[in-house]
Order: sequence, then C-alpha cells, then structure tokens
Amino acid sequence: MQQRTIVSQISQTGIGLHSGIDTNVRILPAEPGSGRYFVRVDLPSAPTIPADVTAVSQTVLSTELRQGEASVRTVEHLLAALAAMGVNNARIEIDGAEVPLLDGSARIWAESIAKVGTVEQNSPVSENALFLKESIKEPIWVRQEDAFVCALPAEKTRFTYGIDFELPAIGNQWHSWMPCDEQQNPDETFVLEIAPARTFGLMHQIEHLQTAGLIKGGSLENALVCSPSGWVNPPLRFSNEPVRHKILDLVGDLSLLGNFPRAHFLAYKASHNLHVQLAEKILEQQNLNL
Ligand SMILES: [Zn+2]
Repeated sequence: MQQRTIVSQISQTGIGLHSGIDTNVRILPAEPGSGRYFVRVDLPSAPTIPADVTAVSQTVLSTELRQGEASVRTVEHLLAALAAMGVNNARIEIDGAEVPLLDGSARIWAESIAKVGTVEQNSPVSENALFLKESIKEPIWVRQEDAFVCALPAEKTRFTYGIDFELPAIGNQWHSWMPCDEQQNPDETFVLEIAPARTFGLMHQIEHLQTAGLIKGGSLENALVCSPSGWVNPPLRFSNEPVRHKILDLVGDLSLLGNFPRAHFLAYKASHNLHVQLAEKILEQQNLNL
C-alpha cells in the first residue's frame, strides 16, 4: 500500500464553531512521510502542529491539537475527510486557531478532496504502521460510566456507534459504516453516507455553552438544534443524522493514529475525550508489541 497526497490545493474560509472567528484554510500536497500537519501561518515563524494523537491538548466539545504555543481546534471533521479519502500527507495552512465549521459536516472537505483528487506517492505506508497487516489481537477499550469506545479484532475495519438521548427527536440511534477497500480512492461511501452528517446540539444546553464562552460561531446554518418538541431547523439529511455525525467525529479522532488499525470500532454515548483515550491506548499497545 502506497502513501497518498492530494493532487492540488484546496482553499476554504469560514467561521470557527467555538471561537466565532473567521479563518482561511489552504490544504497543500505534502512529501511522503510528512503526514498531515497544520501550519499556523498567522503566527511568527509559522509553527507546525502535527495531526497526531500525541499532540492532543484538549477535547471539550471538539478536538484541539497543540505544539508549544501554537494550537488549532475543531480539527476532527477535516481530518476525518482526509483520512477517509485516503490522504496520508497534507500540509494544512491556517491563519487562526480553529478550523472553519462550514456547514457543520465534512461534506465540503470531502467533496473538495474528491474534486482535486488524490495521488499515490512513491513510498509505501510505514511497515511499522499500526496493525495494518493484521487485525488487533485482543479487544482494547475505554469507558466512563455507561459510555464506551472499543476496538475489537475484525477481518475488516468497521465503525459502529450508538447514542441515547431523552429528547424523542433523537432517542436511541445506531449506525454502522465500513470504509471501502483501500483500492477505491476516493471513498464514495464516506462522501455519501458519513461526510454530510452535521454537528448537532441541544436547545437547552446552548445558553450554558455560550455562557462558558463556547459555540460563539454556532448558528442554525451550521448545526442541527434539537428541542423537546423536535428539530428546530429541519429537514435532516438522514433520519439518523446525529449518530452518523458521531461516526464522523470518531473517524477524525482515531485518524490521529496516522492509520486506522484493522478493527471493529464500537462506541456508545462516547465523546472526543473517550475517542482520544482509545487512540492513546491503541498507541500504547502498539508500542508494547514493537
Ligand atoms: Zn463533530
């Protein structure tokens, strides 16, 4: 299996969900072996921040990466799109501390990547890459109260997610998604089934989050909002759009491992925090096996 990058550059501008600040993003092809990394082009000396699980600094309602003084948050939707579309190497220039939320999903990122296309590079995916040749051997899991994320031995990589909300419009939802075989680039099932699922929020939590200085850039244009009497801004793109969005978040967070280990990832009521904890535990396990 060869490494891949994008064929030509992608540019997007938009507001950050938590900061409420507009940023410009430019994604560029990158050398084999360089991985996916952010470059804070607005800061002196343009520091880089690797999209790596060891760089995670915060997971409150979005995933934040940090290297020294430089940080970038809400990286999960963009990283999910790059990973699911098979992009191993990309230079992501950004002139602020938060990736634009765009329409709340990864659709624009995924479609932009599909549009420019990806190209094989003259370098194989690392031999040491996480459990690429064979499945993980034993279940690896993390949990918090009744929420959990686990990686189970499996023939093929699959992501399954469950959520459970008291609000009847969401209720109990489950969804399962299996990426296409690696030959198929870009992954159309991701573009059609997972990437379009938008961020969602609960009406009764909005005021509390705003008081906490979060979701300053949230609006009815970039997030689905649910109230006890139903969705505030329908229509939904899928009847189970919320749980599909959770798969998107999980794919983005686990992509911080660099490559998905071959496993069935099963999550229930989890969060960015638990997703990242699982990624850290998988990394630990791999280091023990080396
Ligand atoms: Zn999300």
